[in-house]
Amino acid sequence: MSLSIGIVGLPNVGKSTLFKALTKKQINIANYPFCTIEPNVGIVEVPDERLQKLSDAAKSAKIVPTVIEFVDIAGLVKGASVGEGLGNQFLANIREVDAIAQVVRNFTDPNIIIESGGKVDPASDIEVINTELALKDLETITKRVGDLERKIKSGVSKEDTKLLELVKKIKEKLGAGTMVNSLDLTDDEKSMIKEFNLLTAKPVMYILNVDEGAVKNPLPEIKGIDKNLILPISAKIEAELAELADEEKKEYLQTLGLEESGLDQLIKKGYETLDLITFLTSGPDETRAWTVQRGSFAPQAAGRIHTDFEKGFIRVEVCRWQDFVAYGETGCKEKGLLRIEGKDYVMQDGDVCHFRFSN
Ligand code: GDP
Repeated sequence: MSLSIGIVGLPNVGKSTLFKALTKKQINIANYPFCTIEPNVGIVEVPDERLQKLSDAAKSAKIVPTVIEFVDIAGLVKGASVGEGLGNQFLANIREVDAIAQVVRNFTDPNIIIESGGKVDPASDIEVINTELALKDLETITKRVGDLERKIKSGVSKEDTKLLELVKKIKEKLGAGTMVNSLDLTDDEKSMIKEFNLLTAKPVMYILNVDEGAVKNPLPEIKGIDKNLILPISAKIEAELAELADEEKKEYLQTLGLEESGLDQLIKKGYETLDLITFLTSGPDETRAWTVQRGSFAPQAAGRIHTDFEKGFIRVEVCRWQDFVAYGETGCKEKGLLRIEGKDYVMQDGDVCHFRFSN
């Protein structure tokens, strides 16, 4: 399964334009048997410069990058949490994604109606959306408080009391407009509320759809939003780029003074937002990138390749991708750069792995 990012935003901010550009980058599905193509899902490769280098070192027949899914979630308007627009449908779709990319209008084109009313105002648009998400979570949490209180009346358990305390704390914060992902929760607390699948607990990034001439401008201050979470993009430029062949694309990027397309930046930022890391496998058949959540152990990583690998995990031979590129697998072994790690090994980004398992 690949991880998914839901594209949300108010009407007319550029979501479809961006999504259409993304789907032009759709993968060759044959390499990813677990993926099915749906109209509102775009599955794209995560750009990774290391793959070509590894492939050259191992003389691989092919390269298979790791992928990420973008889901176009239409229908958010003010009042969605009480069923306005496609309200409930919309919120149900958000529940299914792993992270949220919120598209926010910052372009000024007077021909495109600003749905939120008056003027271009990213901070206020973000507030509208985040408020809808928080209101829906408040509804979910309030119901949980009721359920737990009833349950505790008929027999107190230590876990339920602890959970009720936590849920009440979250309810209070949500009521004050704080998103769950900005609360300082411990890992324990996070796992206690995981099953509620709260919308505001999901990681969020903000795509600021700026004027074509403004992609390289310094980011504007958006009140209450951490700059690291904001990616400026011109959906209009991305739509144009998506129509070009690779060579032309490079030239166009150069004339714009950009090193990388906004979509590639978006894919990478999405990957970061989800707190994912890449490990690699490389041999004559293929050089391939695989995704795991940061902090995953070696057997979990093995399980990404095949469930049997996880069950029968014995050990993993690991080297740094730079060493693999410089010396190859055999060279790494000879120089003692290949480490043998067991089931407690925490995977690191850029590990080149050879898993050993029993059937
Ligand atoms: P959505 O409702 O959020 O999916 O918005 P769309 O992608 O359908 O865009 C709404 C309108 O705004 C369309 O006419 C787009 O061509 C236009 N639009 C989208 N992005 C930009 C942009 O970056 N600059 C300009 N000038 N127009 C844009």
